[in-house]
Amino acid sequence: MSQPDIPFPNSPVVPTMVEGTHVIEFSCHKGIGCWNACCSNIDISLTPYDVLRLKTRLGISSTEFLKEYTVPYEMEKDSIAGVKFRPVDAGTACRFMQPEGCGIYQDRPTACRYYPVALLSMRRQDEYIDRDSYAIVREDHCKGHEVNRRITIADYRKEQGLEDYDDLARGWRQLVLKKQSSGPSIGKPSLRSRQLFFMACYDIDRFREFVSAESFGRLFELPQEEKQALLADDVALLQFAFRFLRQVMFGEESIALNAEAAQERLVKVQEKRLIEEREAAGRRAQEEEAGGAEEED
Ligand code: SF4
Ligand code: SF4
Repeated sequence: MSQPDIPFPNSPVVPTMVEGTHVIEFSCHKGIGCWNACCSNIDISLTPYDVLRLKTRLGISSTEFLKEYTVPYEMEKDSIAGVKFRPVDAGTACRFMQPEGCGIYQDRPTACRYYPVALLSMRRQDEYIDRDSYAIVREDHCKGHEVNRRITIADYRKEQGLEDYDDLARGWRQLVLKKQSSGPSIGKPSLRSRQLFFMACYDIDRFREFVSAESFGRLFELPQEEKQALLADDVALLQFAFRFLRQVMFGEESIALNAEAAQERLVKVQEKRLIEEREAAGRRAQEEEAGGAEEED
């Protein structure tokens, strides 16, 4: 079968998009010659739901988990942030790899569950509906492709518990896709909105504090009962975080604003912007003056 052009010749991703009905031949089991080879050299991006599962598994806060087990990266230049697993010190292996296999198997991240399949989510401009396709990852060291077990990608996703994982990270994926496809019409998000994105998506325990704070209560009119239910449930709070970000990043208002507080906030933002513009104009004038003095010399 002819293949389309390969944009990254050394990439292990087979450059063909397939649907969930596609049949793969693959099996990974203890005793296979390449056992743990894939976990010895990792590059694993985490979804917000992965972070939530892992911090719960380890019994630590999301803030501690992020600090200890992840490194941030930019999904797009100067744009929104993602987080990746931090490998062992001075090495490339996963910190959860054990001789008998994955030390956190029940809570392993989405990317580990999908392997050797890669999820490709796409969306049209101004749509939130994402369309999933898949690609197959073929790495020379992985002998799982040589095992004669045929399974559709749809069944493989079920087997690996991916349906829940994908459902609970969908709101995040849709935000990322919308940001990526909105391009210059939305522009580079401010530092504040990038910080909010990071906190709301990955640092759920800090987001809980943020939602509990008096300032949040002054700005957003969230019924007390709904708020208490959110604060008591990490998964519900994460889904609320995506809703909150749609409002903050794309102006899709689904959380009622306190009109008076919103007006006060708008005035403050406008005042701050005015001060910043004046300061920038002052700096430009000083630079021009300095440039003129140099020319006279
Ligand atoms: S989390 Fe588990 S499956 Fe994933 S790389 Fe680490 S050891 Fe391997
Ligand atoms: S078969 Fe592939 S996925 Fe399984 S241990 Fe070997 S390299 Fe890893």
